[in-house]
Amino acid sequence: MAEETMPASPPDKPVYRFAPSPNGLLHLGHALSALLNHDMAEAVGGRFLLRIEDIDLTRCTPEFEAAIYRDLAWLGLDWEKPVRRQSEHFDAYHEALARLSEMGVVYPAFLTRGEVKAKVAACEADGKSWPRDPDGSPLYPDDDRHRSETERRKLTADGVRHAFRLDMQKALGLIAAPLSWTETGDRGEIPADPSAWGDVVLSRSDAPSSYHLSVTVDDAAQGITHVVRGLDLFEATAVHRLLQELLELPQPVYHHHRLVVGADGRKLSKSEGSTGLAALRDRGLSGSDIRRLVGL
Ligand code: GLU
Repeated sequence: MAEETMPASPPDKPVYRFAPSPNGLLHLGHALSALLNHDMAEAVGGRFLLRIEDIDLTRCTPEFEAAIYRDLAWLGLDWEKPVRRQSEHFDAYHEALARLSEMGVVYPAFLTRGEVKAKVAACEADGKSWPRDPDGSPLYPDDDRHRSETERRKLTADGVRHAFRLDMQKALGLIAAPLSWTETGDRGEIPADPSAWGDVVLSRSDAPSSYHLSVTVDDAAQGITHVVRGLDLFEATAVHRLLQELLELPQPVYHHHRLVVGADGRKLSKSEGSTGLAALRDRGLSGSDIRRLVGL
């Protein structure tokens, strides 16, 4: 569905969104996020949007998408239509990637996951530590960033599959002032350190956009003024702020909410049936029981 068909928002009307990925069933953590977005929008007379984040065409399915609509309706939520589905907007992400490329801050990355893993393992076997991002994943090695244009062209011509990554240091060199974001509540202004994530991926050979790129493009395309999501995405906001500055997009206000944890104290995963909304519904619970269960 084209952006032009989305209802225009009066400039002063706050816009909230819940943005699940249809790669599994929703659980109590998603319920908290969706309910908070909905309630916060309602409290200020704002809009509540739903966005389906289905760029990963191998893991997202129409069945999981249908389950999202069913679960949210059962929770008593109502959202604006049409729903933005990321798989219908690959052109927009491609355009953003092309713009970043023109700025000289993108390079083709040829290393496979296995090659990266082997490099990290070899380094660690040597007793040295490999730098890791805030989620604990190893930063992408330097190799591809330093390749010559001739070498890149040859690898591409040879049909070597590649992703595109952001040259983090070059990108930061284009930003004049230190980056930060506004977190609602008493946390105020948070300094953003995107370099902690290294050369983040912007598109892969099997997925035409990355989470970071599509979420940044979409929040702007939908005029989102308030991003309300789990604390597990707090640190990722630094990357989104950098992309917003590079692409000259407006910056929303952020609210990262507490996570719902399982009996073992760990974050819920989509494979945990017992906290799944469909399973709880089958056990006879109601939407208002779920509100109580997530502490609302
Ligand atoms: N699609 C992401 C997820 O399901 C959420 C993205 C966001 O809220 O920024 O975890």
